[in-house]
Amino acid sequence: MSFTVAIVGRPNVGKSTLFNRIIGKRVSIVDDKPGVTRDRIYGQIEWNGKKLTVVDTGGVEPASRDIILNQMKRQVDFAIDTADVIVFLVDGKEGLTSADEDVASILRKSGKPVLLVVNKVDNFRNVPENYEFYRLGFDDIIFISASHGLAVGDLLDRLTDYIKDMPEEPEDEDIIKVAVVGKPNVGKSSLVNAILGEERVIVSDIPGTTRDAIDTFFEVDGKKMVFIDTAGMRRKSKVKEDVEFYSNVRALGAIERSDVVLMVLDATQDISEQDKRIAGIAHEAGKAIIVVVNKWDLIEKDEHTMNQFREKIKTEFAFMQYAPTLFISAKTGQRVHRIIELINFVMDQYTFRVKTPLLNDLVREATAIVEPPSIKGKKLKIYYAVQTGIKPPTFVFFINDLKLFHFSYARFLENKLRETFGLEGTPVVIKGKEKG
Ligand code: GDP
Ligand code: GDP
Repeated sequence: MSFTVAIVGRPNVGKSTLFNRIIGKRVSIVDDKPGVTRDRIYGQIEWNGKKLTVVDTGGVEPASRDIILNQMKRQVDFAIDTADVIVFLVDGKEGLTSADEDVASILRKSGKPVLLVVNKVDNFRNVPENYEFYRLGFDDIIFISASHGLAVGDLLDRLTDYIKDMPEEPEDEDIIKVAVVGKPNVGKSSLVNAILGEERVIVSDIPGTTRDAIDTFFEVDGKKMVFIDTAGMRRKSKVKEDVEFYSNVRALGAIERSDVVLMVLDATQDISEQDKRIAGIAHEAGKAIIVVVNKWDLIEKDEHTMNQFREKIKTEFAFMQYAPTLFISAKTGQRVHRIIELINFVMDQYTFRVKTPLLNDLVREATAIVEPPSIKGKKLKIYYAVQTGIKPPTFVFFINDLKLFHFSYARFLENKLRETFGLEGTPVVIKGKEKG
């Protein structure tokens, strides 16, 4: 499991610099509205054998000074809500400000572990001047320079110290982890409630770890499942930008932890860039995906409507043709019972394993139908293939030369695998490996 670290602090203290320093180039584009200065605000790393999910809460910068405090309060509330450990970043060059003191007092009351990080200490001889920060009342304080990369490793060491004593989420392999994602108001919480309200579904209320407070565990026909971050789904904010931004951040977290993603769309609305971005993240994270078109009760239909909608989805979500689509109404309950069936089905595909001889029969057949490509007279040779993993199914093709293993041929092999084995609802990873 992964522990969540949130970085909070005033604008310009260096949150995004620190975030980029820690996460590097992994990009999660969350929002492209004006005022959103970050293109990546969420990422994962492994440090000392622990997985850390780092959130830069500064993704939305306030347009004017007078709302800075308000904005920061929301960031801090969000961090307290979602993070296991909070990194409170202050500016060692500028020194202590009253805004820092305000944030500190909220954080102290939260009872969450807080690591006070004094940034922009580019020269460690300056440290003594920064002792004023001890006044904020945190025991744990560390001096870094995000832009020079000084003591950032120490910072990560300190963070993993915090989580080393926290209870690990029990990794129950039998539980299917489901993330319900989509724009605000498409009907995610209505859908979850509709599913949980079904007769066959037994919701479990045994508290275990702290995570149970935000997730909902249940059982259907002897199968264990969990809806991830139902707490986040139910929480409604009044500020529109906030809802969108934070629901996206939460969606990213839920996707990371999930096996199956229910991508919920509103049948009355066009598919937006935002929808495509969320779906793209699920696809890239290698999760099984089901597209759920909700509010089907509001659509005036004839015999073509469903197919037209299906075509639209195939076009807009071209990168995930493999995802099955279900048209439902959380309000009337229409086809809601099919969702559990479909989750079970795509989970089977997601964990699909093929025996090596069968796989290689398929490879021989495929290469006989469509010759492997050649470049400058040199022909791609596929010696054999093995499946190296599941979730999602991952195949390695041992070949003579990686340069010859063209994207389009890999795509052709993927299609052959899908034709033969189904693999509906799951991405498939195809890799080439040179064998001398
Ligand atoms: P944010 O608004 O908190 O995300 O702050 P940014 O990461 O955008 O940084 C604000 C400014 O501080 C930028 O000009 C950075 O280059 C600068 N900065 C960040 N970290 C350091 C540091 O360690 N030392 C110095 N001297 N400048 C830094
Ligand atoms: P969320 O923000 O995605 O969790 O959306 P909600 O579940 O809060 O639903 C947003 C609004 O859409 C609420 O007013 C719901 O009553 C309504 N709604 C949800 N599902 C349906 C549906 O299937 N049909 C209709 N007509 N309305 C729905």
